[in-house]
Amino acid sequence: MVLAALMTACGSTGSSTTTEATSDTTAATAAVGRAQFNGDAAYELTRQQCDFGPRVPATSAHAKCADWLIATLKTSCDTVILQTGTVQTATQGALGIKNIIGIINPDASQRLLLLAHWDTRPWADNDPDPANHKRPVLGANDGASGVGVLLQLAQQLKAEGTTLGIDIVLVDAEDMGENDNEDSWGLGTQYWAAHPHVQGYKPLFGILLDMVGAPDATFSREYYSMQYASGVVDLVWSLAAGSHFKNVQGGAVTDDHVFINRAGIPCVDIIDMRSDSDTGFCPEWHTIDDTMPHISAATLGEVGQTLLNVIADLEQ
Ligand SMILES: [Zn+2]
Repeated sequence: MVLAALMTACGSTGSSTTTEATSDTTAATAAVGRAQFNGDAAYELTRQQCDFGPRVPATSAHAKCADWLIATLKTSCDTVILQTGTVQTATQGALGIKNIIGIINPDASQRLLLLAHWDTRPWADNDPDPANHKRPVLGANDGASGVGVLLQLAQQLKAEGTTLGIDIVLVDAEDMGENDNEDSWGLGTQYWAAHPHVQGYKPLFGILLDMVGAPDATFSREYYSMQYASGVVDLVWSLAAGSHFKNVQGGAVTDDHVFINRAGIPCVDIIDMRSDSDTGFCPEWHTIDDTMPHISAATLGEVGQTLLNVIADLEQ
């Protein structure tokens, strides 16, 4: 993902459309009747993805990780679908992609869509050392963290049960884009939006996780999420666990949720945004330093707990 140009025009000047900050979100207690989300297990599932190496599309590490993701989801989901397709990249020509979809309670009419991208960027082009700009990103935070939370969430829902339908869509080829070229990002999501796994697919809403693992993460109300789905932002942030969710307006991020919203499904992005950095993101973003030492089980736990709280709320 990348910060949209809008950020400099809007986010930093505090335009009139900015949501009033009321107060920081206070810690929510664990969802009634549910076990606490296991952040340590999500951390382990994040690490296991990194053990494959960078998951750059069209590499053997990517193929091996896809097999592992499918096998892992099969232990917790009722149905697992591998969606393959071909997309056009901005700089690399045609590319085969793999979207991996885990379905819980396929017959439930009330459904929640949960997304994270599982690919990693082929180029660490924000690395402070230009010699690293053509090296791939390991993506502990940018890729593996969101997937790790969703894999663990599926395990807990399997163990504890849910009446809600849950669709976990792990999208490919999010991170091969170019600055100032919005449609070059989220290629797997754009493919899925054009070819949903169920005809006429209509969940209540979607939640995207992206870069949810840093110890000092800040999850503010991302701009496009507010534009398309402010009611969902209100709900999710009101149920948020821990101290990382902030009731403040964030910048605009070109990320998978933009294409989900364009397809008519309200979708919010839980993404770590930094108002004190030039890139808008954490220092490891698109560098070779996006590695496990910068991942916190506690942060993963708070994000997973927030999802459990949302699920419990929708079940009522
Ligand atoms: Zn990225």
